[in-house]
Amino acid sequence: MIYLDNAATSWPKPPEVIRAMSAYLESAGGNPVRSGHRLSIEAGRIVYDTREALAELFNVPDPLRVVFTPGATYAINLVLFGLLRPGDHVVTTSMEHNAVMRPLRALEGRGVRLTVVRCAGDGSLDPLAVQQAVTPGTRLVVINHASNVVGTLLPVAEVARIAHAVGALLLVDAAQSAGVIPIDMRDLGIDLLAFAGHKGLMGPPGTGGLIIGERVDEALIEPLVHGGTGSRSEYEIQPDFLPDKYESGTPNGVGIAGLGAGVRFICERGIEAIRAHEVMLTSQLLDGLRSVPGITVYGPADPERRVAVVSFTAAGWPVSELGMRLDDEYGVLCRVGLHCAPAAHRTIGTFPEGTVRFAPGPFTTVEDVHVALRAVERIVRG
Ligand code: PMP
Repeated sequence: MIYLDNAATSWPKPPEVIRAMSAYLESAGGNPVRSGHRLSIEAGRIVYDTREALAELFNVPDPLRVVFTPGATYAINLVLFGLLRPGDHVVTTSMEHNAVMRPLRALEGRGVRLTVVRCAGDGSLDPLAVQQAVTPGTRLVVINHASNVVGTLLPVAEVARIAHAVGALLLVDAAQSAGVIPIDMRDLGIDLLAFAGHKGLMGPPGTGGLIIGERVDEALIEPLVHGGTGSRSEYEIQPDFLPDKYESGTPNGVGIAGLGAGVRFICERGIEAIRAHEVMLTSQLLDGLRSVPGITVYGPADPERRVAVVSFTAAGWPVSELGMRLDDEYGVLCRVGLHCAPAAHRTIGTFPEGTVRFAPGPFTTVEDVHVALRAVERIVRG
């Protein structure tokens, strides 16, 4: 079996992640910090260690500004619904996932003004287009760091400068970049970073988070959910401090334990080494696919301008049939269709059929990619 669906969720997980999750359940299974007994304290320590590891990875000095959520979708919704009010202006791009587009369209229905800046056919974004879209009334700019359809990297630092110049905040959807490309929130000027824990960070499903940069006043962001936090229990109103303000209810301790192990795995392997490996595999995929007659590959030709997410179509072949045959006949697992990003597919010209998407990960080998390429070639040549 060759797993090329790491953009949906990474697999396999490092053995350290699985070990950390079983150890949590076996010996630290208390409710983190709620109860004060040893199992609760141990669980709280593990959750805090993961916060610290993430803060270090993204260069955030205060680990308490890391808020755990069930994934990137929740983190994005938390910012959009928590921050934007009727009359506010928000700018985004035409390459966004529905995790961004759907809440923004819902907010548009409530009086938020939305501008969607069109990206080029390879998914790239001209910062000038963002410059032209923002106004002094713009409250927020939301962009993905790397496209989940074509892997294209967006110019985060330039967009941050443009947003800040008009007094807007920048929210970055790092679902496809966290753990596979270095992200320094301070250097890049990112105010709010939404990440998935279960993709490049190698944690289990059900993990992710929001990092609230130091420039952001959390008083501006209302919580999505109110409830018990284990802190200030004498009050019937939500705490106003981080991270408790946004972390009501029992946290996913076992998942967070696994995520911590995933982050440590990445740091030990070295994020630069992971990136170099994925650039090499992307290059191999791009070269191999381009050499098959009838195949169109989308996104930038330069593997340095993208993450390891490669979309393609084959003339005369419905993508669903290609995907099914790759799985049934060759054990190559990928994702076909619209990848929850219809706007992105419209931008690259593949709506409504979509594409076949290959997304290798840190455990994918050159041989795996070679086998997958041969499988595509055999199916397409007939
Ligand atoms: N944004 C992008 C670009 C994504 O690829 C995904 C996952 N497909 C999400 C957001 C949503 O992430 P999650 O599944 O962790 O909520």
